[in-house]
Amino acid sequence: MNVAIVGGGAAGFFAAIWVKENNPEACVTIFERGSRVLAKVRISGGGRCNFTNSGEHLKNFTKAYPRGANFLKKAFHQFSNHDAMRWFEENGVPYVIQSDGCIFPESQRSQSVIEALSGTARKLGVKVVTSLGVNNIIQNDDGRFTLILGEGMRDTFDKVIVTTGGTPSPEWLAIFERLGHKIVPPIPSLFTFEIDDEELHELTGLVVEQAIVSIVGTKIREEGALLITHWGVSGPAVLKASAYGARILNEASYRCDISVNWAGVVNYSLVVEELNRVVAEHGAKQISNFAPYGLQNRLWRYLIAKSGISSERRWSELGSKGINRLAERLTNDIYHVTDKGAFKDEFVTCGGISLECVDANTMQSKVCSGLYFAGEILDIDGITGGFNFQAAWTTGFIAGKLK
Ligand SMILES: Cc1cc2nc3c(=O)[nH]c(=O)nc-3n(C[C@H](O)[C@H](O)[C@H](O)COP(=O)(O)OP(=O)(O)OC[C@H]3O[C@@H](n4cnc5c(N)ncnc54)[C@H](O)[C@@H]3O)c2cc1C
Repeated sequence: MNVAIVGGGAAGFFAAIWVKENNPEACVTIFERGSRVLAKVRISGGGRCNFTNSGEHLKNFTKAYPRGANFLKKAFHQFSNHDAMRWFEENGVPYVIQSDGCIFPESQRSQSVIEALSGTARKLGVKVVTSLGVNNIIQNDDGRFTLILGEGMRDTFDKVIVTTGGTPSPEWLAIFERLGHKIVPPIPSLFTFEIDDEELHELTGLVVEQAIVSIVGTKIREEGALLITHWGVSGPAVLKASAYGARILNEASYRCDISVNWAGVVNYSLVVEELNRVVAEHGAKQISNFAPYGLQNRLWRYLIAKSGISSERRWSELGSKGINRLAERLTNDIYHVTDKGAFKDEFVTCGGISLECVDANTMQSKVCSGLYFAGEILDIDGITGGFNFQAAWTTGFIAGKLK
């Protein structure tokens, strides 16, 4: 069996490894258009590669996927995050689990993951061809596939696994449309929010560990750390909100209002209660000298000023009107988002090959027998935390079972 893997990323390597594990006689070739394979793995997780997640902070692992949750539910039965942890450990990548569930190589270097993937592929006899892109895929009358490589070279394969990742060009997607697949328009997910507010920008670098970010007018409400940047806001709470809101935000040209809950407490009356407790216990202190919820002083002063309350005043002088003003500011601080941030730290693509056209048990196309998909080319994307690589390992593993 002659198998072509189009794309030398995480999903392509994992698929190639498993094709060889399952069919040692198969001739497996990875075609990578770039000069280097596994380029995204190298830069991922700030060069440390957050390659999966323990899932312990989630009721259900699939909750981490704004798109593809149902499809992956079945797929994870075949290859889960625990299988990925085991595979990497057995292939020379001992790992550490952070308190937030993110899993990194013990070495804290993405190079360890690259060596495990490329070393295993080499040992199994996978051929890797770099600087040679696939420009077209044609299905012949006998069901086999002719690939147009580079400037027009042709080669024929029995099976093809497409693992070309996110940000596909319209011409690339058109090839699959011609082969009968439905395409979900690709758009960005996991981005930061641009907010045009100089006073907020002055707080650059400040992190609130447990904030809640909601997109006004939607049900999207995400918790986690929030980072103030020189262009707006970032951090896990923002990235998650961007992922769940990817389509809505795209339709709104990335303009929306967000509500920030700095207290990390949804219930408004609990916040009022907490502020009244501060009045009772620290009434003589100046408001600016005692910040509730462990908020940093710089942020607290900014919020007091924004509430129109003099920082000279004492807690005991606030009165119920003042308490309500602060509670409102702490739980529902509205900002206008003017665009998505240009910073692409964890950027992934939502959209791609519609899951309607792919069998979750095999990753084989339902409309073009012998053609398989894995990784980000599929309309699957996860929130930040190792979930995107997990989707690549799982779908790559299953595609690698091709017969
Ligand atoms: C900066 C950054 C950091 C990230 N960090 C993390 C992280 O820590 N944890 C996590 O889970 N996810 C992370 N992600 C997301 C993760 O990297 C991707 O989801 C994952 O790499 C997808 O794997 P893939 O194999 O599907 O695609 P890719 O890794 O994108 O690989 C696709 C490959 O196909 C090649 N290709 C494309 N078209 C062709 C063609 N026509 N012919 C031949 N080759 C082609 C490309 O050059 C590329 O090498 C990060 C993403 C970015 C951008």
